[in-house]
Amino acid sequence: MRVHVLGYWGAYPEPGEATTGFLLELPGGKVLLDCGSGVLSQLGKVCAIPDLAGVVVTHHHHDHAADLGTLVYAVLLARLQGQLRQPLAVYTPPGQPRAEAELRREPGVDWTPLSAGQQVVCAGATWSFVQTRHPVECLAVRVAAEGKVFAFSADSAFCPELTEVARGADVFLCEASFPDGQEAAAAQAGHLTAGQAGRVARQAGVRRLVLTHYPHGVAVEQLLMEASAAWGQPAERVYTLQRLEV
Ligand SMILES: [Zn+2]
Ligand SMILES: [Zn+2]
Repeated sequence: MRVHVLGYWGAYPEPGEATTGFLLELPGGKVLLDCGSGVLSQLGKVCAIPDLAGVVVTHHHHDHAADLGTLVYAVLLARLQGQLRQPLAVYTPPGQPRAEAELRREPGVDWTPLSAGQQVVCAGATWSFVQTRHPVECLAVRVAAEGKVFAFSADSAFCPELTEVARGADVFLCEASFPDGQEAAAAQAGHLTAGQAGRVARQAGVRRLVLTHYPHGVAVEQLLMEASAAWGQPAERVYTLQRLEV
């Protein structure tokens, strides 16, 4: 398994970058995990739309789904130009009437609503989903293929479900939206502090902890130090177009 980092900012992208989006290279193809603001532009650098095997969106916040509408336009054009070999499998939680209508209207998209506890086989990997604690329905993701496990927290306040989804993961990609000391603000917003990300990693016994969903105006090095202190091992950061081997 390989993960291409397309974007990692929380809330909005810094110039030339993107909010949450990762391209997973799996045994059966490439799957886009989250489609935030600026992600489609970064995706074009590593994968053409007709080469996608699927798209999974964890929740309908703009920093995870803003480019979903333009992705559907790209699918439409690829279909009209005869480049789309089969409908693109798209998985998102339900509950967004406008997004659902757009996904259903496009014949090049095969939309499946997602819910917690569901298991999906996509691109030769087994995907399972766990409900997180967040202001809207949001699913943390566990992807298993060829004896390896990749887990992604999506957005969540500190909760036992995150430990469950990350249990023994080879790579745990975890949000760290606040520095330590802002636990109350993080809980209210449905996010983690860096130290809490480290605690989840320790409880879950993960092999690698990689932080994402960075806040603006906070040094990533500080988040890394706080997460590493709580985990007891060095946490890692992400960069745009970085490739993570799982
Ligand atoms: Zn977010
Ligand atoms: Zn969110």
